Amino acid sequence: MLIVQKYGGTSVASPAHIRRVAERVAATKHQGHQPIVIVSAMAGETNRLVELAQAFGARHGREVDVLLASGEQVTASLMALALQSLGVAARSFLGYQARMITDSSHSRARIRQLDASTLLQVVDQGTIPVIAGFQGVDQAGNITTLGRGGSDTSAVAVAAAVKADLCEIYTDVDGVYTSDPRVCPDARKISRITYDEMMELASLGAKVLQIRSVELANAHGVKLHVRNSHNQEEGTMVVADNPHGEPDDLERVVVTGVSLDLDQARLTLIGAPSKPGLQSAVFGPLSEAGIVVDVIVQNPPIDGRTNLSFTLSESDLPTANQTLENLAKQLSAQRVFSDSGLAKVSIVGVGMRSHSGVAHRMFELLAASGIEILMISTSEIKVSCVIAREHGENAARALHAGFGLAG
Ligand code: ASP
Ligand code: MG
Repeated sequence: MLIVQKYGGTSVASPAHIRRVAERVAATKHQGHQPIVIVSAMAGETNRLVELAQAFGARHGREVDVLLASGEQVTASLMALALQSLGVAARSFLGYQARMITDSSHSRARIRQLDASTLLQVVDQGTIPVIAGFQGVDQAGNITTLGRGGSDTSAVAVAAAVKADLCEIYTDVDGVYTSDPRVCPDARKISRITYDEMMELASLGAKVLQIRSVELANAHGVKLHVRNSHNQEEGTMVVADNPHGEPDDLERVVVTGVSLDLDQARLTLIGAPSKPGLQSAVFGPLSEAGIVVDVIVQNPPIDGRTNLSFTLSESDLPTANQTLENLAKQLSAQRVFSDSGLAKVSIVGVGMRSHSGVAHRMFELLAASGIEILMISTSEIKVSCVIAREHGENAARALHAGFGLAG
């Protein structure tokens, strides 16, 4: 099999870690497979580089990308050296050498194309390519990076381009869990999850995969296996819904995972004249101020005036509050109300598509725990409730147990 293996920062944190990973890669090769390796920077290195740039007030741009890309350059070289020291032929590739062509949006570049032929030639000669993740090059030859966590996306892009049989993402946990084990101690590792569910969980804050990598895997049908580099356990397979047409193939539970976001605050614009363009007048300036808005709720107008509420990260509250106060005056709204100390608890599962009453069950479980729901938002495979932060962990545990996810 042609297998892409991506090793995250904690798996390549030191020369000793790198040697252990190299042994694992060599074993894969000795089993008769053809591995292609993608590496992240050593754990903590990218943060260190980000801080260095901040010494000059720089957060992103051409030069910051040159700096950030150096983290993966180090590990690609060390991994190739480690493999060679085990007598295995290996060759490092920086993003541009692997022909990872991106657009020019520094620090969040998107991959445009990837020429697989160079990599496949190397593989055919029996040499293992070791590719620096997270980095690419734009058409003009500038070094770019793909955004934090981007080496997952590098790995999936390579897997799609070379038409790999499998893309393994190695990390320091055993896979994707039904909930955060620090909050729900009886959380279980999920053995199979669909791309859609994984995208929801990633957007709700599960950090195990960069969300773009899951989108890309979904678009190209790349089979992902998230697993622990420190053991041989099977991890979590991320696959298409019902990939072989066998209904039993996925764990047919209604809810697959429960997630908790403890960083929510809410702003409400009270008594805004209800008219076309109100929402764009409010959210335009907020987005220009770089504020990411989450759940939005608007009430039906009474006497021509409406209330518009939304949640956001608590650290954005002061800036957003100021922006909204200014807007309130311009729009002749009555006032702005702000509350902090909120959380968002969510249930995710493709089973919701075919089951009714899932949201109701969630509301019952929260009610039984005496937890007031402040806002609700839903998608086809997700229900989220905004609640007081002090109830966050209890809510997650009640839902995890109530939907039968406990191990
Ligand atoms: N080293 C980069 C980061 O820390 C990319 C990655 O690890 O995926 O964000
Ligand atoms: Mg990562």
